[in-house]
Amino acid sequence: VLSTMQDVPLLISRILTHGSAIHGTSQVITWTGEGEPQRRSYAEIGDRAAQLAHALREDLGVEDDDRVATLMWNNAEHVEAYFGIPSMGAVLHTLNLRLPAEQLVFIVNHAADRVIIANGSLLPLLAPLLPHLPTVEHVVVSGPGDRSLLEGASVQVHEYDELIAGKPTMYDWPELDERAAAAMCYTSGTTGDPKGVIYSHRSIYLHSMQVNMAQSMGLTDQDTSLVVVPQFHVNAWGLPHATFMTGVNLLMPDRFLQPAPLAEMIESERPTHAAAVPTIWQGLLGELHAKPRDVSSLTQVTIGGSACPPSLMEAFDKLGMRVCHAWGMTETSPLGTIARPPASVVGTAEEFAYRLTQGRFPAGVEARLTGPGGERLPWDGESAGELEVRGPWIAGAYYGGQGAGPVRPADKFSEDGWLKTGDVGTISHDGFLTLTDRAKDVIKSGGEWISSVDLENALMSHPAVAEAAVVAVPDDKWGERPLATVVLREGATADFVSLRTFLAEEGKIAKWQLPERWTIIESVPKTSVGKFDKKVLRRQYAEGTLD
Ligand code: ADP
Repeated sequence: VLSTMQDVPLLISRILTHGSAIHGTSQVITWTGEGEPQRRSYAEIGDRAAQLAHALREDLGVEDDDRVATLMWNNAEHVEAYFGIPSMGAVLHTLNLRLPAEQLVFIVNHAADRVIIANGSLLPLLAPLLPHLPTVEHVVVSGPGDRSLLEGASVQVHEYDELIAGKPTMYDWPELDERAAAAMCYTSGTTGDPKGVIYSHRSIYLHSMQVNMAQSMGLTDQDTSLVVVPQFHVNAWGLPHATFMTGVNLLMPDRFLQPAPLAEMIESERPTHAAAVPTIWQGLLGELHAKPRDVSSLTQVTIGGSACPPSLMEAFDKLGMRVCHAWGMTETSPLGTIARPPASVVGTAEEFAYRLTQGRFPAGVEARLTGPGGERLPWDGESAGELEVRGPWIAGAYYGGQGAGPVRPADKFSEDGWLKTGDVGTISHDGFLTLTDRAKDVIKSGGEWISSVDLENALMSHPAVAEAAVVAVPDDKWGERPLATVVLREGATADFVSLRTFLAEEGKIAKWQLPERWTIIESVPKTSVGKFDKKVLRRQYAEGTLD
């Protein structure tokens, strides 16, 4: 029997219309690096998103399902693109501006993007790629930057503000199929070519509602969220969509992502919440240490993308910034788990340990652990296996390219349709996930596994250590052994013997897991989204260039 309820498709346009009408006075604040930031109300964003859709449709000829890419920082225009493009029926494709040129070329061609909206400051990156992007017909430029770089390019060039000027501020948004493509994002291609994930209107809508739950980020219109996580990194973890449901003010850093301007924005705009990967926060800590600022407004910090070191959580707690740890990936929209400790431990000594886990699965994300032989493992907090997940905002396939069907590589999707995450860990009886490592980063020593993350966290709790990354290197006797690469704090000294002794103290690390290979490095190489790039470290070790 069918229900008697109305069948209203869950569309991005509904999130936009809700935000711009009900929360019309909430703001998107974009940092400009000098003087007053740019302030735009949700109502204005709604008007401009409609104008953008008119311009794309009427002037540029964008049709349903055409891909419109963005090569942009976090700013108000990027939020307009987030809403205008999918609402009209086209597909928003966020490009990761930190990828190497050849990967960007691969991605744009694979997605067959017809239009790229680019920030002027990124034209030095975009212009040399254009001859290799045959599907791109239009480039729309927004914000400061040297337009002459596009002279001679075989695309039509438009100014964002001129293009939308005078267009109607209302758009009769189409009633789309809620399962249709709304946005796409490619994984950063740590192995092989990048793979495209296509989010639907429905998946984004449901994910946004989850992000807004009190057990997740739980923000309201009394909050201002500093969105450091880039809009090209899994939809800025879903924040722009989620905040348009609740009226949270967005503080967007544009291209000012260095520790000093971030500290300045926190002091002057007084956000209550912020989201970014651990490396950003390590940088901010150093900055606050060197030059203290008033960061008292910032009471909630969402950290994910890679494991949050305990030392970072402690340091933030001391500053009154309470860290909430979360796990996810491009394929999971990204919210997969979030670490809100259960009521029974709040205020007890156990609470901190719960906060350090990757967190609990929200309603909507089902999880299971699979052992090396394909067997299901129990949720006992001890049995470690590969995490597999399923749910309405979890990818069930990758985009196969124009004219091709979806692809489901056997190492990424189980036969019964679950996503294989490539992450190894345990799940406790009450549903808390603890990741021990990425499957490809685990150190396999003499038939036993050593967690690179455990070693890194222990090392980063040493006062002289700023950053530490541990990778597996080949070993004649054991197969693999850990190599510890360490970045020392400015002015600090420490020798390997003392670091090793520190790791062995209080049984932090078992004796057989202690590294015997060490090296001090200037900085840990980072991936395009700011994670430790262990692939580079392994290669440098193999080439003998690691120092
Ligand atoms: P990439 O694979 O290029 O890093 P993603 O951003 O999709 O791109 O990365 C997802 C992966 O990041 C996860 O599979 C996991 O290995 C890691 N990750 C994300 N959040 C956490 C976390 N809180 N703790 C540990 N690892 C994490």
